[in-house]
Amino acid sequence: MGYEAIYRHSIEQPEAFWAEQARAIHWRTPPKQILDYSRPPFRRWFVGGETNLCHNAVDRHLAARGDQLAIIGVSTETGQTRELTYRDLYREVNTFAAVLQSLDVGKGDRVVIYLPHTVEAAVAMLACARIGAIHSVVFGGFASHNLALRIDDAQPKLLICADAGSRGGKVIPYKPLVDEALELSSAPPPHVLVINRGLDPQSPMTPGRDVDYATASTAHANADVPVQWLESNEPGYILYTSGTTGKPKGVQRDVGGYAVALMLSMKMIYDVGPGQVMFSTSDVGWVVGHSYNVYGPLLAGATTILYEGLPTVPDPGVWWDICARYGVRTMFSSPTAVRALKKFDADYIRRHDLSALQYLFLAGEPLDEPTAQWIQDALGKPVIDNYWQTETGWPVLSLMPGVEMKPTKLGSPGLPTPGYRLRVIDETTGEDAAAHEKGVLVIEPPLPPGCLSTIWGNDERFLAGYFGHFKQPLYSSLDWAIRDEDGYTFILGRSDDVINVAGHRLGTREIEESVSSYGAVAEAAVIGVSDELKGQVPVVFATLRQTGDDAARAEAAKGMRQTVEHNLGAVARPARVYIVNALPKTRSGKLLRRSLQALAQGADPGDLSTLDDPGALEEVKQALARGPDVGG
Ligand code: ATP
Ligand code: MG
Repeated sequence: MGYEAIYRHSIEQPEAFWAEQARAIHWRTPPKQILDYSRPPFRRWFVGGETNLCHNAVDRHLAARGDQLAIIGVSTETGQTRELTYRDLYREVNTFAAVLQSLDVGKGDRVVIYLPHTVEAAVAMLACARIGAIHSVVFGGFASHNLALRIDDAQPKLLICADAGSRGGKVIPYKPLVDEALELSSAPPPHVLVINRGLDPQSPMTPGRDVDYATASTAHANADVPVQWLESNEPGYILYTSGTTGKPKGVQRDVGGYAVALMLSMKMIYDVGPGQVMFSTSDVGWVVGHSYNVYGPLLAGATTILYEGLPTVPDPGVWWDICARYGVRTMFSSPTAVRALKKFDADYIRRHDLSALQYLFLAGEPLDEPTAQWIQDALGKPVIDNYWQTETGWPVLSLMPGVEMKPTKLGSPGLPTPGYRLRVIDETTGEDAAAHEKGVLVIEPPLPPGCLSTIWGNDERFLAGYFGHFKQPLYSSLDWAIRDEDGYTFILGRSDDVINVAGHRLGTREIEESVSSYGAVAEAAVIGVSDELKGQVPVVFATLRQTGDDAARAEAAKGMRQTVEHNLGAVARPARVYIVNALPKTRSGKLLRRSLQALAQGADPGDLSTLDDPGALEEVKQALARGPDVGG
C-alpha cells in the first residue's frame, strides 16, 4: 500500500486500522474495545488490553536477539563506550527493578529521574516501566528550581540521580542541585537513589535518605522481577514540555497506545526494523529521547545509540564517526544541532563512510531552507523534516520513507501521518483556511494512539489549554501553518510569535527564514518590539558563521536587512539588527524569543529557568547597550 491508501484507511476506518497496528506489540490480554470515545475529547485506545512497555522493549526480544546489541552508550565526556546486548539489558533492568522494589516503589508510584544522557537513564526508565511505576524524566542539568517545580507536581516516591553530569569536559555536580531542589520542594520523596559515576568525589550523601545504587544493587544481581501488566490506558510516564511559552505542562502518556504508535512510526516513518541501528542525538530528558532514543528502537528490536557530549567535541565529525562505526541507518537530530555544525567545514561530514546511512530526520523547530540545503549537500542523503510536540509523542507531519518516499519540499515537514485528522483553520472564524492561506494547525479529536491522555492531575488544563480555543472541540497545536494544493503543510511558527507591523500580521519565522538565507548568517531570531508609529517593528538578533570586526558586522547587518526587504517587502524590513555571539535558548535548543523581546523592550526577561547559557543573555544585554549594527 502507498502512503495515500494507508493514510485514508487510518482516517476512514480508525478502529480497523489501529486494531491491525495493535498486533505489532505483545498483549498479555488483548484489547476488548479498540476505541472508547464516550467522554470526548478524552479518548481511550485498546480498552481492556493488558501490556507492558518493558516487556515489549526487552523480554520480547530475548529469544530471537538476546546477543544483539540493544543500547550503545557513547560518551565523549567520560571517554567511555558501553555496549549492552538485549540479554545484558534484561539483566540490568531486572536488577534495577529489584532495587526500586526494595525502596518500596510499586505500581502507580511516580519516580523522578534526573540523570545525564546515559545507559543508566534508559535502564532506570525501563525498570520503572517493568514494575508499573510512572517515570518522570527531568532533563539533567535543569536548575534546582525547575527540578523542584516538577517534583511538586509529580509527587514522587523516589528520585533517581547521578553524582554528576559533564558538559564540554566540565563536571556539573548534580547531587547538590538535587539536595537544594528537595529543600525547595513541598513534596520531597523519602529516598534518593544515587548512581555514582565517579565524577564528583565530593558528592554529598544524606544518611537514611540517600541510597547508593552500586551498594543497593549487589543484593539483587541475579533478580528476575515479574512484569506488572497494565491496562492499556494506565499512565506510563509523565514528561514536562520544554516551557518555551510558559509554565511546563505535565504530559501524561498511556502504555498501549504509545507502544502501538511507536511501532508504527519506527516502521513507516523512520524505516528502522529489527537488527538495524538508529541514532537519535536528543537527550532522555526530552520527548524525542523517550520515543526514539529509548522506547521506539527497543520496541522494534533495533539498536539505539545514546550519545553524551557536544556535537563538536573532540571535533565536529564526532557524530558521523559514530554513524560510520556502528553502521547507523537512520539518524535523528535537530535544526539547532545542524546549525552548530554548519559553522564548520562540511568535510567533517564527508570524510566518513556513511554508506549505511539512509536518512537524517530533523525535528523540534522550524528547519530553515539554508540549513536543510547545507546538510543535504554535505550528506548526500534525504533530510526529512518532521513536526510534532511533546504532547503528541510521535510525528504529526512527516514523509514516510518506510512506506513510500514522497518528494521533499524544502521548508515543509510534509504530510499528515496515520491517524491525524489535521485542519488549518482561521483563528477567528474557525473556518477552514484555503490552500496557501495561513491558519492555526488543529487536530480533530479523537487524538490518535500515542498522544497525551491528559495533563497530569489537571484535566481542566488539558481541556482549556488544548481544546478551548474554538467553538468546536478541536485540539489546537498553537502553531501557525499553511497547506499547499498537494497537502504539504508548512509550519510558520507559534501562534503567539506573530507581530503586527502597521496593521500587517507577520510571522517572525518567515522573517527569520529570510534573514537566514543571507549567506553570512549562522542563526537568527526575530522579535516584535513596540513602536509608537507602527505598533510593532521587527528586530533581528543574529549570529554569524564567522565573527568579524565592526565593519564586517555592519556589512552583514545591512545585507540581512536588504535580503528581508527584497524577499518579503518593505513592511517586514527589520528596524534594527543586532549581531551577537550566541542566542538565548532553552536547554532543548529552542530560541527564547519571549525573553529576547522583553529585554529589547527594557522589560524583565521573565522566567529564565529553562535558559541554557546565561552568557547568551549577557551577550544580548551588551548588544542592546552597545546599539544595533544597523538601524537606529
Ligand atoms: P511549551 O509547550 O512548554 O511552550 P515547546 O512547545 O517548545 O514548549 P515541545 O513540545 O518540545 O515544547 O515543542 C513542540 C513545538 O516545537 C511545536 O509546537 C512547534 O512549535 C515546534 N516544532 C517542532 N517540530 C517542528 C518542525 N519540524 N517545524 C517547525 N516547528 C516545529
Ligand atoms: Mg508546546
